[in-house]
Amino acid sequence: MTLRIGVDVGGTKILAVAVDDAGLESGRVRRPTGWGGEAVADGIADVVRELAGDRTDVSIGLGVPGQIVPGSGVVEHALNLGIERFDLAGALVERVGIRPVVDNDVRFAAVGARSARPGAGSLAYLNLGTGVAAGIVDETGPRRGARGAAGEIGHVPVDPSGPLCRCGQRGCIEALAGGSAVAERWGRPDALPVRAVFDAADAADPRAAALRDDLVRGVAAAVRLLVLATDVDVVVLGGGIAALGERLLDPVCDELRESSAASGFLLSLRLAERVELVPRGMPVGAVGAALGSGAAVSGGARATLAALDGVDAHAVR
Ligand SMILES: [Zn+2]
Repeated sequence: MTLRIGVDVGGTKILAVAVDDAGLESGRVRRPTGWGGEAVADGIADVVRELAGDRTDVSIGLGVPGQIVPGSGVVEHALNLGIERFDLAGALVERVGIRPVVDNDVRFAAVGARSARPGAGSLAYLNLGTGVAAGIVDETGPRRGARGAAGEIGHVPVDPSGPLCRCGQRGCIEALAGGSAVAERWGRPDALPVRAVFDAADAADPRAAALRDDLVRGVAAAVRLLVLATDVDVVVLGGGIAALGERLLDPVCDELRESSAASGFLLSLRLAERVELVPRGMPVGAVGAALGSGAAVSGGARATLAALDGVDAHAVR
C-alpha cells in the first residue's frame, strides 16, 4: 500500500492531492507558491508532510511549468517560479527523504485527464492558460520526445497576418489564444481579461468580438494540429480559459466544422466531435502527478505507467 501524492506547482499556488491504492483521493491541500527553487521546494515539502502524516510508504509526483532535463529531476526555464535551473528532485530528497518523479505540469495534466475517461485510448490535453501547450498520452504513458518538448505547440504560426507573438514570430497559436496575449491586446485592467473579452463580445463590442474570434480560431487550429499530427481519440480543453465552458467549446466546434466544410478528408476526421472540456473541478494536474508518481524516470525517456491501468481513476474525481 503506497500513498501517492501528486503536486501541481503553479505560478501562484501549489495544489496537492493524495491518492490511495484504490485510486481514491484521500486528501487535498493548497498553499501559495514561493519564489525561486529553494522556496518552491520548501512549499512542496510542507504539503507533502501534511498529506503524508505518519505514512512512510509514499511516492511523490511533481508537475512543474518548465522543462525537465530528460531522465532527471532537474527543472529548467520555469520562469513563473523564478527558476532558471534547479535540481528539484534533489531538493525534495534533502527535505523529505523521498525522491519524486518530476515532469512537465501539462504532461501530468494529460495523464490526469485520461484517468477521468475509463477505457480511453489516446488523448491530448490542450492547456489554455497564460500560454498554450499540450500533453499527449496513450496507454503506454505520456509522450515526451527527444528533448522533452513534445506538445509545445503554442508557437506554431497559423496566421501569417496575425498579431506579433512574444517569441518573435507572427500569428502563433499562443498569440491568438494565450491568456497573456489576449489580455495584452485587450489592454484593460480586468481581473479575468479573457472572460471580460467574451462578455464584451456578447454585448456587441466589435473589438472584443474580433479578439474572441482570434482566440477561437487559435484553439481550433491547435485542435486540428493535434489531431492531424497524432490522431488522438480526443482533445481535452483545460486551463484557466477552459473555465469558460460551453462559451468556449461551442464556438470552437463551430469553427472546426466550418473550416472543415470544403474538405472531405477533414470532415472525415470529425474534429468537432473529438473535443471536450476537462471535468469541472477535477485537479487533473495534481491527480496526474499522483498517478505518475510511481513511474521510473531514470534510465528511460518514457516512464512506465502500465501500473496505472488498474486504477479506478473515476474515483479520483
Ligand atoms: Zn510565438
